[in-house]
Amino acid sequence: CGIVGYAGNQTACGKPLEVCLQGLKRLEYRGYDSAGVALAAPGMEQVVVRKKAGRLANLEADLQARPLPDATVGIGHTRWATNGQPSDINSHPHLSSDGHVAIIHNGIIENANQLKTELEAEGHSFVSATDSEVAAKLLGKLAQEVMDETGEPDLCEALRRMARMLTGAFTILAVDNRQPHIVVGARHDSPLVVGLGEGENFLGSDVAAFVAYTDQAMEVGQDQAVCLSGDQVVITDFDGNPVTDSKRFTVDWD
Ligand code: GLU
Repeated sequence: CGIVGYAGNQTACGKPLEVCLQGLKRLEYRGYDSAGVALAAPGMEQVVVRKKAGRLANLEADLQARPLPDATVGIGHTRWATNGQPSDINSHPHLSSDGHVAIIHNGIIENANQLKTELEAEGHSFVSATDSEVAAKLLGKLAQEVMDETGEPDLCEALRRMARMLTGAFTILAVDNRQPHIVVGARHDSPLVVGLGEGENFLGSDVAAFVAYTDQAMEVGQDQAVCLSGDQVVITDFDGNPVTDSKRFTVDWD
């Protein structure tokens, strides 16, 4: 339902989590039943995830009691359940089988059951009742497949490949602890906006997600993917062709 993403070029700090929580608060007006965040930083062995059913305050209380480590990138989600009841396990983010990739998803993946059957046949097991977890397992698998000889996955290429396989409506963001300086996103029939900062960049399902930090924004078009770092925003179509005519605008919050 609500989506926020953050990439900065500082060494690991509390900013990614702060931006995610601030953004989710601003997106509360859309309504939601659960909330969660995922963070990545250099040196992490896996991506870290915290998620809770109920109000954002539940998540914040949990984070107070058991703080998360500093990070360079983060994603945050408020869920409006469509597939699977509201619960901690069905909340986003969802994790890949190897624990390296976390995704958040708005919308409904129509071919989730078919993809799930195929992934289960390959040995992936599912913990939630959501359509979204299919995207987590599939992206984790594709990230391994596109890995180059240095062992670096190409998360953006993996996401584009996945986007070509999904039907239905989606905005999906993902982070990977092996690429701890980027957040990737893709959209089809569901919105995604970039917020442009200084040495940091933002993603949101709408500008409310990042309006506390910047009023400079750029639209991600239909069937486009974005790779976001602290000092770069690269937008392509799902085949990887660069998009150069993205519409920039200034947010008029009043
Ligand atoms: N279909 C997904 C779910 O039920 C995403 C719902 C949403 O857009 O918040 O978990």
